[in-house]
Amino acid sequence: TERTFSIIKPDATERNLTGKVNAVIEDAGLRIVAQRRIRMTRQQAETFYEVHKERPFFGELVDFMTSGPVVVQVLEGEGAVAKYREVMGATNPAQAADGTIRKLFAKSVGENSVHGSDSLENAKIEIAQFFTDADIV
Ligand code: ATP
Ligand code: MG
Repeated sequence: TERTFSIIKPDATERNLTGKVNAVIEDAGLRIVAQRRIRMTRQQAETFYEVHKERPFFGELVDFMTSGPVVVQVLEGEGAVAKYREVMGATNPAQAADGTIRKLFAKSVGENSVHGSDSLENAKIEIAQFFTDADIV
């Protein structure tokens, strides 16, 4: 079965929404097979979002992702990468479909409650940044 990488972002942990986000994930048939609450360092956030480093919002994004605790997760299920993108909804909550995590909880395009890998290749890279094989059960 396929795995994807998820982050519950600081805007969601700040509002105590971890359980509600996880309920949407589990109701969609995805299994949380690893999970840890951490405070990201600037170095970790910069490495994680390396692909966006030339974008105008990069500094803001790193500031936000290090502004409070996040929950990093590995999700497992059939077609997990695409399925979780669907469950998250569009990056901008104003464009997100009803019932998606971002429609339900996101505050703005920046503070949009969750991250999910956008390809199987990136999922593997992102999982390896935060978890070892032994962490995933
Ligand atoms: P993520 O990678 O977090 O799952 P995504 O793939 O939907 O989200 P990306 O285009 O990869 O969106 O952007 C990464 C993150 O950068 C977004 O989730 C959001 O937090 C932030 N971001 C994207 N566009 C903007 C913007 N215009 N202004 C501020 N922040 C933005
Ligand atoms: Mg992305």
